[in-house]
Amino acid sequence: MKKLFKNNLDNLWKKIDEEYNLFLPKMDKGTLKFKNFHEDGEIDLKTLKTAVPLKNFVFPQSETYLKFKTENKKIKFKVESVSEDKYVIFGARPCDIKSLEILDNIFLREPVDTYYKAHRDRGIVISLACNNIESSCFCEVFGVEPAGVLKSTDVALVDCGDFYYWNEVSENGKNLTELLKDILVDVKLEDEILYNEIKERITKLFAENTLNTLQIDKIGDLKEVFENEKVWKELARRCLACGSCTYVCPTCHCYDVKDYAGNNSGERFRCWDSCMYSDFTLMAHGNPRTTQMQRVRQRFMHKLVYYPTNHDGVYSCVGCGRCIEKCPVHLDIVKVIKKLVVNK
Ligand code: SF4
Ligand code: SF4
Repeated sequence: MKKLFKNNLDNLWKKIDEEYNLFLPKMDKGTLKFKNFHEDGEIDLKTLKTAVPLKNFVFPQSETYLKFKTENKKIKFKVESVSEDKYVIFGARPCDIKSLEILDNIFLREPVDTYYKAHRDRGIVISLACNNIESSCFCEVFGVEPAGVLKSTDVALVDCGDFYYWNEVSENGKNLTELLKDILVDVKLEDEILYNEIKERITKLFAENTLNTLQIDKIGDLKEVFENEKVWKELARRCLACGSCTYVCPTCHCYDVKDYAGNNSGERFRCWDSCMYSDFTLMAHGNPRTTQMQRVRQRFMHKLVYYPTNHDGVYSCVGCGRCIEKCPVHLDIVKVIKKLVVNK
């Protein structure tokens, strides 16, 4: 294991930037975003959550599959491939790292989504443990350890005051550590002791958060929850179908494929979609979900019941709390969990 003195951060970023496209959390007009090292914005390693989650790197909001144009009454196609440029993300939070595991389960199973895989393969992620907690955080409910080492990260950092504890996790992480060997320093016994103390402190801090006491395991079984229409109607009554909850969610992964055509050319692209929209699942024969109650039920059933049923008990929520902050009518997943538990 290594440590990175904070007064060497800039040198580390410059070194990474020589080899990779480097992205970091930057505050830009009051909004935290992952931005390129060279883009405007102030690097911010204190605020926890970016507005747009990590999924945008591996599953972009909009992505062109192919371009087409007509020439002499013939159509020519050009398939678009993912750039091979390698990138490094510095400072992703553990909840977003966990979301990669959930997305991998979807996009990397057969048949593999080649676009997603290409984005995953060209990226290296350096996570940063959360030293503080926001009121909407409840990641521990879903087994995310805010100071732990998650399997989808390449390097895991913990802020230890004057330095970051640098834990290389994957082969990519080891290669990056080798590249940075003149900047990183070997840890000593006292560093290990401090690191373990800080990890314990973070774990205790998150355990004390009341949201982390949600009894997720007390949600009823699939049939029981699905048929509880009284609760779903009550919950869905306020929903505006704006889709914000799905767009900010690091684990939501539904998309649409569309063709855009101009006079002699056009393109086929995919873009994020939302199960909260009335035309989601609209097919030639009609729409199997005709009410907002059914759509709201689908979103939360998927996260809390269907996904864990199909993925060894892993939930499709990482407790990041973004939907709590963004829903304009305060219809968030914590309220839903409480209702489903209370009504069991
Ligand atoms: S459902 Fe809400 S809390 Fe859960 S991962 Fe999505 S945005 Fe975060
Ligand atoms: S953010 Fe709230 S109002 Fe908008 S679709 Fe989601 S639950 Fe409905």
